[in-house]
Amino acid sequence: MRHSRSFRYALFVLAWLIFMFVAWRDKMTFPSSNEYNIFEHLQANTKSFGLGLEATSTALSQGHHKSPPVEETLPFPKPVITQARPEVHQIDSPPAHSAFQESIKEESNAPEGIIEKSNAPEGIIERVNATFVTLARNSDIGDLAGTIKQIEDRFNSRYKYDWVFLNDKEFDSNFKTIAKRLVSGTAKFGRIPSSQWSFPSNIDVEKAAKVRAQMKEQKIIYGDSISYRHMCRYQSGFFFLHPLMMDYEYYWRVEPSAEFFCDIPFDPFRTMVEKKKKYGFVISLLEYVETVPSLWNATKTFFKQNPQHLAKDNSMEFISEDGGYSYNLCHFWSNFEIASLNWLRSPAYMEFFKYLDEAGGFFYERWGDAPVHSLAAALTLKKDEIHFFNEIGYYHAPFTHCPTGNKVKDKFRCYCEAKDNFDWKQYSCTSRWFDFMGMEKPAGYENESE
Ligand code: GDP
Ligand code: MN
Repeated sequence: MRHSRSFRYALFVLAWLIFMFVAWRDKMTFPSSNEYNIFEHLQANTKSFGLGLEATSTALSQGHHKSPPVEETLPFPKPVITQARPEVHQIDSPPAHSAFQESIKEESNAPEGIIEKSNAPEGIIERVNATFVTLARNSDIGDLAGTIKQIEDRFNSRYKYDWVFLNDKEFDSNFKTIAKRLVSGTAKFGRIPSSQWSFPSNIDVEKAAKVRAQMKEQKIIYGDSISYRHMCRYQSGFFFLHPLMMDYEYYWRVEPSAEFFCDIPFDPFRTMVEKKKKYGFVISLLEYVETVPSLWNATKTFFKQNPQHLAKDNSMEFISEDGGYSYNLCHFWSNFEIASLNWLRSPAYMEFFKYLDEAGGFFYERWGDAPVHSLAAALTLKKDEIHFFNEIGYYHAPFTHCPTGNKVKDKFRCYCEAKDNFDWKQYSCTSRWFDFMGMEKPAGYENESE
């Protein structure tokens, strides 16, 4: 069959148009849903919370987590993104210290606390469901900024864990601007309800005022402070119930002016999960007896009435020299804590706190959150669920935890000095912890006892 020249030409043009249309349609196809999952997670983090609470995503505003416009993705091959296990979060930036992590993987006898984790595909860090948490006043931001910066530079810039800031007053814009600038994950700012930062109805405020006057005379630290008592009660019984904390399973508490001496090339939250730990500490010491004269009696009464909350393999021997008759004042220093929120939200802990709160010692004495958390950890947890984070060099005035021995200090590039290490000194309880746990003390510890 013969066609005219113009008919053949029209056929050719038609075929060309069909070809162009198909090519254009293929280009407009959206990337696979996997590509968008990583952004969905980040966007979920920015959801605003009711009750006047504010959640701000610094990650999104920095731009590198922004979902790119469709056109930008067109000419490039689709990135391969492996689905994270449901309980972990996925980050799309490679670890800055991957060389360091490699060197750790190669070490056969990695020290306590380092989990050799190689399941994740290269370039992907798996997060635990965890957050930093800091209770602070607006005026604390100056002292807090340096501490956040240290944690970010030594650890969190690679992981981008969130950071929850809590305050009994509204955070001002200066606090929020600086905190958001420094935190690599999502910075969230929460207000504490006044009902959790005031005298409970069972407290006789006149009796409490007399106690404060007496403690002032006796020059007991924070003895005359009302706000310090609210702070201790809040840290003991409420921070883990704050709506901003309810999304998380683990927390790392950070206080203003704390210092972190060593690199943290591993994820301490991961250590908690993998080793099945519920409470982690770096410094333990003796409490001022004047602040807790009746705390032990209240504790004993509670556990006598609630024996179901006493753990089987507990740490009673760590906190008592005489089988539980008296308290030896040993406690974990709570200005550093990495611990399980689900443990604090458990009936055992919550009922213990409620009992102590009704006993009134937060106001009639000056019970600290450190001995309260510690007694609960020692008695409601198995001893193996408590972890000493030796590699995390730490300072909070006036005490230092500097890992013992040059090997660890070299490996983690610590800038603290052995002479300042508090671990083996007279008022520390860490030596007792090692003995109780049957752990071998590090070589050279005797030289750091004075
Ligand atoms: P110390 O470590 O026992 O000397 O006590 P701090 O002064 O460091 O207080 C413990 C924590 O509670 C820190 O994170 C403080 O920023 C915070 N804090 C103490 N008092 C208040 C307060 O009145 N309001 C708020 N919002 N935070 C407080
Ligand atoms: Mn402090």
